[in-house]
Amino acid sequence: MNSEEMKTLTGQFIMGTYGRFPVAIDHGEGARLYDPEGNEYIDFTSGIGVTCLGYGNDGWVQSITQQAKKLGHVSNLFYTEPAARLAEKLCRRTGMSNVFFANGGGEANEGMIKLARKYSFDKYGQGRATIITLNNSFHGRTITTLTATGQEVFHNYFFPFTEGFRYADANSLESLEAAAGDDVCAVMVELVQGEGGVLPLDKDYVQAVAKLCAERDWLLLVDEVQTGVGRTGSLFAFQQYGILPDVASFAKGIAGGLPMSGIMANEKCRNVLGPGTHATTFGANPVCAAAGLYVQEVMDDAFLEDVQAKGTYLRNQIEALELPCFGETRGMGLMIGISVKEGWSNKELANKLIANRLLVLTAGPGMRLLPPLVVTKAEMDAGVAIMKKTLSA
Ligand SMILES: *Cc1c(COP(=O)(O)O)cnc(C)c1O
Repeated sequence: MNSEEMKTLTGQFIMGTYGRFPVAIDHGEGARLYDPEGNEYIDFTSGIGVTCLGYGNDGWVQSITQQAKKLGHVSNLFYTEPAARLAEKLCRRTGMSNVFFANGGGEANEGMIKLARKYSFDKYGQGRATIITLNNSFHGRTITTLTATGQEVFHNYFFPFTEGFRYADANSLESLEAAAGDDVCAVMVELVQGEGGVLPLDKDYVQAVAKLCAERDWLLLVDEVQTGVGRTGSLFAFQQYGILPDVASFAKGIAGGLPMSGIMANEKCRNVLGPGTHATTFGANPVCAAAGLYVQEVMDDAFLEDVQAKGTYLRNQIEALELPCFGETRGMGLMIGISVKEGWSNKELANKLIANRLLVLTAGPGMRLLPPLVVTKAEMDAGVAIMKKTLSA
């Protein structure tokens, strides 16, 4: 099927929920993607932070293939090895205590919200179920996680939304205090706001929030759906903030391209969700878990240091271009935001770059780059050369 046929068939039979770029993808290798006509694209998107090991990674393919041959799925009413081993790995590497596996970021955050409300219900009874989230945040597309998302544009059409959320400004303890109250059970944050524009929270602020949460017995919920699994140059971003959340969610990169997500709880919260309180049919799927184990195997300390170094390199190269449309870069590791100067539209800039075969993302009013974490220097240089060629004038 060629690109035009794919677009036509998609338009006819898939709901038009996505504002797609006019590009069809057939296959990939490393940080390069190819359309059906064989045109090559440098990929600075990795499926929005999913394909952390790039495309066509042999070890990843082998792990999946072997596990699929052995056992493709079985109910969580039975025990399986890959998920147990992946959960162990995540806990040992972070200091968290146990894991619940789900399938997508929004669903993981639903689980995190349920855990927080049950923790509070068990200890204090009803009426203490409000969760404070941050303005400009993004937590998912389910009715409840849309409500958790601190952006008015998302609070539309689907009324009635779930009750029990209030919003505070990022990096402002005053704003958090203004949203506080006897009804609060948790605070939920992204340490680097992803969809909101790649906006890292201040370390001092995050540590102060953690302290406040401990004092008031609010759970600190960290949404690491985008920041997790090596993206920021540590396995989870909270490890660079010097905090241990009560619960953290993960998804996107966890299985390197297969649908998997989950939440990790600390010791205080390990027994909150008992039998019958939470479940999902596909959660902890053995093939996804085998892929996740392979990702963990690859992502050792040297790999994570390399992510830091590559992020610094790519940001420096972009800043050195001194493009008329770009302001400063920001972010952590290979989660990079570029501010777009007044008079330029990030959507238009993205379209131009994509037309010249560099795939990029937007976030908030700026640009966002999430290359596969295995991106090579040659691939980064090729991407930067496309930026120079496309946006210098
Ligand atoms: C992508 C994202 C989500 C939603 O994940 P889905 O898998 O699309 O449900 C939630 N939180 C953050 C921070 C995200 O980046």
